Amino acid sequence: MIIVERPPKLAMIKEIKISTDTLKGYDDFKIIESEERDEDVFFLSPDIAPCEKCMEEVLDAKSSRYLYPFTNCTDCGPRYSIIERLPYDRKGTTMSSFSMCPDCGGEYKDPENRRFHAQPNCCKKCGPQYTFIDLSSDVLDDKIPIKLAKEKINKGEIVAIKGLGGFHLCCDASNKRVLALLRERKRRPHKPLAVMVKDIQNAKKITKISNMEKELLEGKNRPILLLERREDCSLPEGIAPEVSTIGVMLPYTPMHHLLFDDKLSYLVMTSGNIGGQPLQYKNEQGVKALSEITNYFLIHNRDIHVPVDDSVVKVVLEKEMVSRPGRGYSPFSFPLSKQQDKEILAVGAHQKSTFCLLKKGYATMSQYLGDLNDFNNYKRYEKTINHILEIYGGKPEIIIHDFHPQYSSTQYAKTRLGKHIGVQHHHAHMVSCMVEHKLFNKVIGVIFDGTGFGTDDAIWGGEFLVGDRKGYERAAHLQYVLLQGGDMVIKEPWRSGAAYLHSVEINPEKYLKNIDRKNISTLRKALVKEFNCFRSSSMGRFFDCISSLIGLCNYTTYDGQGAIALENIINKAVKESYPYHIMECNNDWIISYEEIIKHVIKDLEDRIGADKIAAKFHNTIIDLTIDMVCIIQKKTEIRDIVLSGGVFENRYLLNGIYRRLKNLDLNVYFNQRIPINDNGISIGQVGIGDEMYGGK
Ligand code: ZN
Ligand code: FE
Repeated sequence: MIIVERPPKLAMIKEIKISTDTLKGYDDFKIIESEERDEDVFFLSPDIAPCEKCMEEVLDAKSSRYLYPFTNCTDCGPRYSIIERLPYDRKGTTMSSFSMCPDCGGEYKDPENRRFHAQPNCCKKCGPQYTFIDLSSDVLDDKIPIKLAKEKINKGEIVAIKGLGGFHLCCDASNKRVLALLRERKRRPHKPLAVMVKDIQNAKKITKISNMEKELLEGKNRPILLLERREDCSLPEGIAPEVSTIGVMLPYTPMHHLLFDDKLSYLVMTSGNIGGQPLQYKNEQGVKALSEITNYFLIHNRDIHVPVDDSVVKVVLEKEMVSRPGRGYSPFSFPLSKQQDKEILAVGAHQKSTFCLLKKGYATMSQYLGDLNDFNNYKRYEKTINHILEIYGGKPEIIIHDFHPQYSSTQYAKTRLGKHIGVQHHHAHMVSCMVEHKLFNKVIGVIFDGTGFGTDDAIWGGEFLVGDRKGYERAAHLQYVLLQGGDMVIKEPWRSGAAYLHSVEINPEKYLKNIDRKNISTLRKALVKEFNCFRSSSMGRFFDCISSLIGLCNYTTYDGQGAIALENIINKAVKESYPYHIMECNNDWIISYEEIIKHVIKDLEDRIGADKIAAKFHNTIIDLTIDMVCIIQKKTEIRDIVLSGGVFENRYLLNGIYRRLKNLDLNVYFNQRIPINDNGISIGQVGIGDEMYGGK
């Protein structure tokens, strides 16, 4: 049973069956070619970082693969991004246009060789090549392309680089001037930029790294890992303004390793797109689109079939939490249902979109596909669904979507034939966590989120649910506030600040800083007339409100900015919190915000520091959560508590609530491999759909 004890590095053993048979008397051993049978469920492997042996060859001047950026073997290299169809054979990948030279062919056929059946196997003589393009001088030099790119980066230029899953925009991370230029041209004023670091030693110079974080950084998936920034970090603040973490990744193709040298240890590597548009991944289109940003391109002639963004991951409570699933993590398949013949497609959320296919009992979740508000993202989302359905031979008869009528994913669902089922957003969050931890019985779900469509047409997001995969009851929620301005509310936290103050009869004009008085009075008039207003119990907007009141963030340029800024300034020495009030009404509870707001205002009047207010506010949310859970726990006797929803990206909050509930001897669960934010919604939807139609 060598296959069980020492499986190949990337093998995933689904099950082992032992059966008896009569001896056939073959006289040799052969691995025969795959037959095309679309009835079987196959697994798509994510793309894998180069293994040690391959990197040794790349850096060995005597090796035939010396400095060859596409070196790979059965343990490493491209997979998902180059697969056109299954079975996974070279002819079904974008490597099909390169034919192996005799040497590579020999390795491929030799069972003793580590490149035996390595589908993307290639070398300098027969494989893909890089080219450097300089649009400003028409230089096209394919002799030393990576060196030319490096020279430009060293001179403070931005270079667009086509890698494994798409283009990156790359520049020297220590150069303030080029950082500012990149931000301006990419239309990304504040959102943190990911940094690729030469090696772990250099990563340790800028961030604090635990053993587990080190393993993740150096592992085969190579995500962008969010790490605590060191006080003496030498990189400019512009990398991640007003955020205490830096997104760090280590090189994940041989090409990346070759970009670094003694002078260059830190590179900004941000997705090759403009604004919120899709990641560029094709040569011609990519060069055209990104020429708004740079004149320098390092491209190659192996097609990317499926564009995949870098994954974003962090370690919280010693668990790996995936925020954005992408390269190395996607697609992600795991057993979910005992019903083999049921097929479900869940179309996910809206701003953070993924989808999930259930087939043959396995759920497969896609990579992050962007904000569906952008039409081009929507097109890519549609295309990726079709690709996965085609690959798996999926013909889903049940389509699950969010209740929200305006989600593009809901609209997409309507274009598909089949049985359509709408599910509540926060129920899906709760079930996403239940699926991950294999929970089937009733749980108490604490779902703190930005936006989710409620069953009463209000926007929910500060929810305490009691239920299982099939259904739920809303046991408690944050008190409704009337918010004004439709979609603008999310982008403009001052609107939450003003609306909350207005609702407790405090004049916002007195407290909101740097907001035109005219805007405030217009908003107040609209609130009185209930013009373009909605009721909200969103925890995300409550955080926005406080962020705005203490003058941190009135307008955002990326998702969650207000709450992130608030978490970032917490004074951890402060243990106090504000008083709050829980009201019981008709069998459920409402958490009143009035006292909290009034005490924040009092602190502002008393000139208490923003760092202390931020701490007290966070502590208050932790306190009231524990209280609320205890009340529900006493009534229901349920001991399994599920924490989910995008607001739990907040480490201070998740840590605090988790530890306090654990101290009460409750079983506490939070999302890890399945994103806690809306990227995890699609799996939750599948979990609900599966249970509604037949169960375990
Ligand atoms: Zn390898
Ligand atoms: Fe959500």
